[in-house]
Amino acid sequence: MQLNRHTRLPPALADIGPREIRRVFPKPALIEIAGERERPLFVSAMLHGNETTSFHVLQALARRYADARPPRSLQIFVGNVEAAEAGLRHLPGQPDFNRIWADGDSAHHRLVADVVAAAKAAEPIASIDIHNNSGANPYYGCVNALRPADLHLAALFSDIGVYYRNPATTQSTAFSAFCPAVTVECGQSGERDGIDQAIQLVEDAMRLDGFPDHAPGASRQKLYETVGAVKVDPEASFSFGEPGSDIVFRGDLETLNFAEIEQGSVWAISARDPDSLRVVNEHGDILTGRFLEPRSGGLVLRQAITPAMLTRDRAIIRDDCLCYFMRRL
Ligand SMILES: [Zn+2]
Repeated sequence: MQLNRHTRLPPALADIGPREIRRVFPKPALIEIAGERERPLFVSAMLHGNETTSFHVLQALARRYADARPPRSLQIFVGNVEAAEAGLRHLPGQPDFNRIWADGDSAHHRLVADVVAAAKAAEPIASIDIHNNSGANPYYGCVNALRPADLHLAALFSDIGVYYRNPATTQSTAFSAFCPAVTVECGQSGERDGIDQAIQLVEDAMRLDGFPDHAPGASRQKLYETVGAVKVDPEASFSFGEPGSDIVFRGDLETLNFAEIEQGSVWAISARDPDSLRVVNEHGDILTGRFLEPRSGGLVLRQAITPAMLTRDRAIIRDDCLCYFMRRL
């Protein structure tokens, strides 16, 4: 699989929409732009083809730095352009481009291994991977290491931070092995505030000289740790509030992202088989019984938790999970 290389963002990028991205990037691309300071900022874009905030960030950078050097060099990876053209997270038959950054032997693994090698050689000051959520979430930054630099990078974007180690195959996990790395979740695709905040993060990060050697602290950052992913049995039907499915989640579930939900709260109004919903931790251990208990034909929370990335998008629930359970660090 081909990785195209560029030394600038094509000016034509400014005048197209995300689904026309292959006019300027027909294949995945690595763009290396020389800036005032040599060590680059790494920016990862379009790993998920239907998450368009990163596209708009690239457009902004193309406009701002058409005739000027950026304050710091940039290394930009543009990932799944074919899925972007189709308006999909990934094409049928393609892997998820944010699950291929660990050991593996496919053409996709080799493609991103080349990107990692180029980044490592350039010693980036930091890495920013830009995403959107499919459900209603506040903006937040995810880190894979509890180092002051990573936490500061995340706090530049939002006062909500999430620490996770699973899945371990993401871009930010791979990059956290050699530089501070964050994944930013910029709300739903197309939200203007999310785009503006992501552009500001890239601008601010380009101007950094380094990071403080102490963590930002609780007044600047609410930090959560992912304790498990909530998965629906592939055989089970589900709905949000409408009766008749194997699992009927409470109808307002999607509004609970980042809410601190109390012990005893209803999670599912009914569940024909309580085992059709599972909480799985990073090691694959099934922890359902610690978090959910059957009561009155449904499921209630056995302990207080904070959910994140709750979605009603059926494809994502089937492909990935319903949400993550988190606790405050
Ligand atoms: Zn994404």
